[in-house]
Amino acid sequence: MKTTTHNIDIITDLETPDSESINTPNLDLPTSDIELRSPNTIVHMDLDTFFVSCERLLEPKLNGKPVLVGGTSDRGVVSACSYEARQFGVHSAMPMRMARQLCPEAIVIRGNSAIYSKYSDMVTDIIKEESPVYEKSSIDEFYIDITGMDRFHGSYKWATELRQRIMQETHLPISFGMSTSKTVSKVGTGEAKPNGQINVLRGLEKAFLAPLSIKKIPMVGDKTYQKFRSMGIEKIQTVQEMPLELMERVFGKNGVIIWKKANGIDNSPVIPFHERKSISSSLTFEKDTIDVRKLKEILTTMAEKLAFYLRNGDKLTSIVTVTVRYSDFDTRSRQMRIAYTANDHTLIATVMRLFDQLYQRRVMARLVGVRFSGLVGGGYQINLFEDSERTIKLYQAMDKVRNRFGQGAVKRAVTMDTKGVGQMSNPFNGQAPIIPAHRRS
Ligand SMILES: [Mg+2]
Repeated sequence: MKTTTHNIDIITDLETPDSESINTPNLDLPTSDIELRSPNTIVHMDLDTFFVSCERLLEPKLNGKPVLVGGTSDRGVVSACSYEARQFGVHSAMPMRMARQLCPEAIVIRGNSAIYSKYSDMVTDIIKEESPVYEKSSIDEFYIDITGMDRFHGSYKWATELRQRIMQETHLPISFGMSTSKTVSKVGTGEAKPNGQINVLRGLEKAFLAPLSIKKIPMVGDKTYQKFRSMGIEKIQTVQEMPLELMERVFGKNGVIIWKKANGIDNSPVIPFHERKSISSSLTFEKDTIDVRKLKEILTTMAEKLAFYLRNGDKLTSIVTVTVRYSDFDTRSRQMRIAYTANDHTLIATVMRLFDQLYQRRVMARLVGVRFSGLVGGGYQINLFEDSERTIKLYQAMDKVRNRFGQGAVKRAVTMDTKGVGQMSNPFNGQAPIIPAHRRS
């Protein structure tokens, strides 16, 4: 039977970009306004060499040795490396071949996202239990807003105890930075690592940042750093002393944000985890259908598109939900927890499995929908090893074509005749797709 398909609406309730992303919100307030506000207390926690630490829990022989996690072939890329390997000049996002040359004795491990998801969830559960408001910004990174806690309990003591509890219960090393803002706390964590903690007292933010390299400001990537270097600028202090107008002239809008961050001015809020949860797609048929093949094709297209959005936004999902509304308006949903992923084949298979379990009544369907929730950032790293190199290359090539020519340009054979799918480049920031910056945690 024939079904007319309307545009598939892509809905995202993830409107707030990451603190690292280019268009960080809430930074355009005048300084005086921020100073009038009561000071915030923000803790940033980051698991140390997370993938390596997980591997070491499973294989203690890896302790103290240089370890690389990532694509194991010569053409693979390093997703994570131990401090022992970093001494040889190895860093994440480096080609595996180069890393092996720099550190021939390194033990190379192909990553396992299911294991890392499990440990990530264990840490999340503890933070969730203890914290008033927390944001999970990636698989191994958290921001916690404990503003106002000082009245009842010392904030630094609280954060110290939380860190101790995480280490005791999970045996994973974790570091934290505490300050009045997300930016300063994140930089603080970087300085506290490995296995440390730091408290940047209110009023000392600028002094703390001043001697550090401008590379330590979260949004300064390689390109921006090179531009600073070409201007002879290395330390944050130099940026602090530069006129704001000059920064704007040289770096545009981002220059203003970098200048504010360099001066410890960052009023971006901690986004509660449950608020940055999902991306979904649903379709109401003009004419109800009982054609299972057609329904599966539509669901496949939805899963494919949503997965593409996840990859473009450097996000991973951990919960898949499928919804079917029957012609009598009886609406059924089924969901499944999975290891963090943004890959089509895993997500399509999960969607198909859920649909098979769900579509039991032999009644016409009026609507079908797919939702990916439990989202976290940092997808780029995991996708480096989750699949064979061939699959990764395929996705990268397909995504590149989609970004250039529109999403209709590439389709799986099964979805070839599904038309009228809505277009959006990156629903996470409403802008052109961004190439995720490599994290160096
Ligand atoms: Mg980390």
